[in-house]
Amino acid sequence: MSLPNCPKCSSEYTYEDRDLLVCPECGHEWSASGGAEDEEGRVVKDANGNILKDGDSITVIKDLKVKGSSSVIKIGTKVKNIRLIDGDHDIDCKIDGFGAMKLKSEFVKKI
Ligand SMILES: [Zn+2]
Repeated sequence: MSLPNCPKCSSEYTYEDRDLLVCPECGHEWSASGGAEDEEGRVVKDANGNILKDGDSITVIKDLKVKGSSSVIKIGTKVKNIRLIDGDHDIDCKIDGFGAMKLKSEFVKKI
């Protein structure tokens, strides 16, 4: 028997962890049972309702406080190459001057 390749990076080195499939190369996890359906069923939209994908560029539409610091990510900040993740904050990205951050899709706009 063989497991499906990673839907994100096409890695062959996926493995099963309980009812999830895990890709060790990009860290993507997905449901073995629902598989592709879950993946397509989950849609992340920006503030305007545009669908966001991995690798998109966005701008921040609201000043966002950075947790645990006094810094603020200013409205209009551009962020390249976002990655969609599960959770309350559904965008994982790197912002110049801040490093790795998690953002909420409702506070961004696709460029
Ligand atoms: Zn992968």
